[in-house]
Amino acid sequence: MFILLLLVTNASLALLYPFSRSRLFLVAAIYGAVTLLVLYLLFHPRNQWLVANRSRVDGAGCLALTFDDGPDPVDTAKLLDLLKEKGVKATFFVVGKRADQHPEIVRRAWAEGHLIANHTWSHYSLFCFLSPRRLRAEIERGTESVRRSCGSRPRLFRSPVGLRHALLAPYLKDAGLEYISWTIRTRDTLTADSGLIARRILNKAVSGDIILLHDRLPGGTAAMLEALPRVIDELRARGFQFVLAGPRENSCDTLEPAACESAL
Ligand SMILES: [Zn+2]
Repeated sequence: MFILLLLVTNASLALLYPFSRSRLFLVAAIYGAVTLLVLYLLFHPRNQWLVANRSRVDGAGCLALTFDDGPDPVDTAKLLDLLKEKGVKATFFVVGKRADQHPEIVRRAWAEGHLIANHTWSHYSLFCFLSPRRLRAEIERGTESVRRSCGSRPRLFRSPVGLRHALLAPYLKDAGLEYISWTIRTRDTLTADSGLIARRILNKAVSGDIILLHDRLPGGTAAMLEALPRVIDELRARGFQFVLAGPRENSCDTLEPAACESAL
């Protein structure tokens, strides 16, 4: 796909000869259109072109809360307390190297009925430009870290910022992972206004939505933690129920039975 786009843009340079102003505009328009298309392919969270992905959950009145970038020894623990108090199960897309630093938090989340998923090994921000070897390592090391932390092999994957990569589809297939996107982005990474985060969810929520939040942020997650109880109560009052973004079954297939029992 990207090779084809590269060929189109380079071939369009031939249109410049013989040079005229209108030909220059035509080439600039082709470059602009291809650039927009590449940006769409790499950045749009729900586009299906580079990798098949799921951005909804099944079931009438069901919603899924998903938390990216953890675990954090303080904020994730507070979030787990809150979810326990409310009786809500959620899906955690953990960063492998952080899970290795705080495996007890991941173990606790799993033990309390949440789902743990792969959010790469290092959360490299230029994910779409990774070499093939590094891409595979980011996926495989992320999976291994989750398995080490909670004894369960992850089935779901989400890339940093939802970025795509031309080789993501075959590599995820090899790793037995399903790409999970979202329908509601709260942009809790950019605001400390808990009311705004709550409104961004409450104004949009419809059956099947997958909601993207973060349980680890450089400036802390106080706003998210403040917004969440209100969001949960209000959505429940509207008749919604919270579900995991995928099944927890078959999670012990990589473990010995005894280890599996203790992991559960
Ligand atoms: Zn992330």
